[in-house]
Amino acid sequence: MARVKIDYGIDLGTTNSAICRMEKGEPRIFKTDTLKDTMPSCVYINKKGSIIVGDSAYRTMKSDKKKATKSWKKEASNTYIEFKRTMATDTKYSCSNLGKDFSSEELSAEVLKALKAFVTDENFSSVIITVPAKFTVNQKTATLEAAKLAGFSKCELLQEPIAAAMAYGLTSEEKNGTWMVFDFGGGTFDAALLKVEDGIIQVFDTEGDNYLGGKNLDYAIVDDILIPYVEENYTIDSILADDIKKQILRDALKTYSEDAKNQLSFNDHYDVISDLGELGEDDDGEELELDLTITQEQVFDAMRPYFQKAIDICKDLLKRNNLDKSKLSRVILVGGPTHSPLVRQMLKDQITPNVDVSIDPMTAVATGAALYASTIDAQVNEEEIKDVIKLDVGYESNSVESVEFVSVKLKEDNKEKEVFVELIRSDKSWSSGKVKIDTTGDVIDVNLLEGRANSLSILCYDAMGNKLECFPNEITIVQGTKVSATPLPYNIGIGIWNATKKLEVFRMAKGLEKNKTLPAVGVINNLKTTNQLRPGVASDTLKIPVYQVDDFKEAEGKRTAYYEYVANVEITGEDVETLITEDSYVDVTMKVDGSEQMTVEVFFQSADISVEKELFTGKKQSTSEDDIQRLLQEARRSINQLESDGVDVCDLRKQYEQVEKEAENSSEHKATLEDIKKVLRKIDAMDSSTEWDRLETEIINQFEDLEKAQNDLGDDKTARLVEQLRRQKDQALTKKDVKIGREVLDLINSLYAELTMVYLCIHVIEHYNDHFGSVRWKDKSRARQLIDNGLEQILNNPTKQTLRPIAAGIVLLLPDDERSKGPAGLLH
Ligand code: ADP
Ligand code: MG
Repeated sequence: MARVKIDYGIDLGTTNSAICRMEKGEPRIFKTDTLKDTMPSCVYINKKGSIIVGDSAYRTMKSDKKKATKSWKKEASNTYIEFKRTMATDTKYSCSNLGKDFSSEELSAEVLKALKAFVTDENFSSVIITVPAKFTVNQKTATLEAAKLAGFSKCELLQEPIAAAMAYGLTSEEKNGTWMVFDFGGGTFDAALLKVEDGIIQVFDTEGDNYLGGKNLDYAIVDDILIPYVEENYTIDSILADDIKKQILRDALKTYSEDAKNQLSFNDHYDVISDLGELGEDDDGEELELDLTITQEQVFDAMRPYFQKAIDICKDLLKRNNLDKSKLSRVILVGGPTHSPLVRQMLKDQITPNVDVSIDPMTAVATGAALYASTIDAQVNEEEIKDVIKLDVGYESNSVESVEFVSVKLKEDNKEKEVFVELIRSDKSWSSGKVKIDTTGDVIDVNLLEGRANSLSILCYDAMGNKLECFPNEITIVQGTKVSATPLPYNIGIGIWNATKKLEVFRMAKGLEKNKTLPAVGVINNLKTTNQLRPGVASDTLKIPVYQVDDFKEAEGKRTAYYEYVANVEITGEDVETLITEDSYVDVTMKVDGSEQMTVEVFFQSADISVEKELFTGKKQSTSEDDIQRLLQEARRSINQLESDGVDVCDLRKQYEQVEKEAENSSEHKATLEDIKKVLRKIDAMDSSTEWDRLETEIINQFEDLEKAQNDLGDDKTARLVEQLRRQKDQALTKKDVKIGREVLDLINSLYAELTMVYLCIHVIEHYNDHFGSVRWKDKSRARQLIDNGLEQILNNPTKQTLRPIAAGIVLLLPDDERSKGPAGLLH
């Protein structure tokens, strides 16, 4: 019969994946086709176009790598690994055997389908899939998409460290304290700090390195042990001198070093022996062969620096949380390489003696996912339960108590009006006895076994004692641990236009700080629109880009180019019923739900209307060309701006030209992006270090102009205002404070504009008279009329009172694109 709870958990790993199911309160890891607990996350498409996943795909990859040493050429491969790294990007994996490209989501879906196929005794369509705590919103959405492609109709996500802690915490005696999950995987390292209070687990900080994992250990063994061995016994100078050939050799040797490393976690020496004909030839045409013994000590020496790097990350993580290592009650080991006695000892020496090795580091995450899954409702197919007694069962699926109350009642639509129910715990040593229930029901006290998932069968009988089929017929209460509400893993805010700096900067949403529990709500009030929204006009748009950042104190006010872009919310004229003029005040409210999906609500203060939009996070982000071009353009614009403000930009320009060249020539897009960001940071540093000097010059110059305008055009009243501003200006100049300086400059500029308004208006009227024919007027005859009227006034001793409405009227008749001040969006 249909499952009441999801019960299935999947660890969709970068290197290996696993699937686990709760059975009568016990987690069961399903064996793979090769009878292992985990399956390589590797996909191979063979010549016939069949899709092969797991160990045999990984074997093909290994033999391809060895074979490549025979031609010393990189062949196009039809095997794929590590696609989890490129989730939510537009990366394509091209496949010659099928003549098509795969996306990361499609390849991940193949892994999910393969895992699903290991379960042969039932069909299921609801699942919990784990994701790294650091996954971005878009990467999470991409994982949900992979689940959909694999045919799952319901999927929820769980953070990997929480899953590991659940697997551990269930049987742990310890129900309070601070735990660290140390997850050293195949290609990534993640450390997470968790707070446990009365068995309730919460992640409160995470850190990691996306390029540190077992792979680095394998290459270290290649470089430190295997290549020196080959060098000693063969002539490979020309191979080592050629970067491509050297990499082919390293990749081939890595297939041996991986086995050596894994075996040496349990043995003190290991023989590396290659088969005849497996590898290619050296410079002298002699066939390469491996026949050596490696000791544990040797691999430890090669691996040590990489484990140290991970431990240093842990130390930093503790430090930034002001946690002394003595306050850490436990380190929980996750990931294949933590099998190594070396890392265990290093952790004991440097972090805490309480290094826990009681759970299997390869399956802990899948096990925790299944435990969690046993507490989440599955999607029930109504057809399947059409003819059975339907019960309404109310209970807490996680508990830290030893007795829980379970309420049971009959649903209204049953034929029977009264039945007897009995709850039996799976170890058979506790039963509720038969309890009579109807549509108002009864409450049953259930005794729980501590520190485990309690599975309870529900049996139903009629008055004669005949058994009746019912739904649900089983419930699970996990005693001992509880996952508290999911915390938000990063800070969330939006990009707003900074008119002074002429760039988009980050603004934090109050309430969406990192580690707020979900669901959460954030607000940013009193922003201004940069352009108008006319009702019904689709091309009038207001764009609100959403960003996630690690440290909002550092990010606030900085250019958004540095941060992780999530998606845009776009409001158009079609969303509003009344005209929203430019410079309208708006309040932005952002709501984030438990799966980190977001909605953004914009409240237009003057019109008193709200528009709510869902944030679409499923769009693939390009890692490449587009981003590079956009950032280069931003850097160019900022350098020009600095130059026009009188800053010496010679060095900056040189650096810019260098990255521009790099962008043209290099295909390492990620590295290029990082280099452009470095230049942007230098531009920003230059900008802030010269900001005051530039502002000071501008204040002094503008004030001189104001004095001149006062002499020519002012009266007594404006004279007093000028004197007042003089005092404010002098104060600002002694304080050297940018914020105060800007305020004073704004006041000087607006008084100057007020005094010179007549001339400004005259300029507008005469300018548009001269260029009348080249403007696409909205109403040409009205424009002509206004300009003629203006010209007549100018001849008759004009005042600003008479000219201002005329000039304003002319500007309103200009086409919208000539009037807009900046990009569509929000500003301070
Ligand atoms: P991921 O989380 O990236 O999917 P895993 O936790 O499955 O990765 O770890 C995979 C890594 O663990 C690989 O580099 C593999 O070589 C390594 N590994 C597996 N078993 C052992 C072992 N006994 N000793 C050392 N490393 C191991
Ligand atoms: Mg993992």
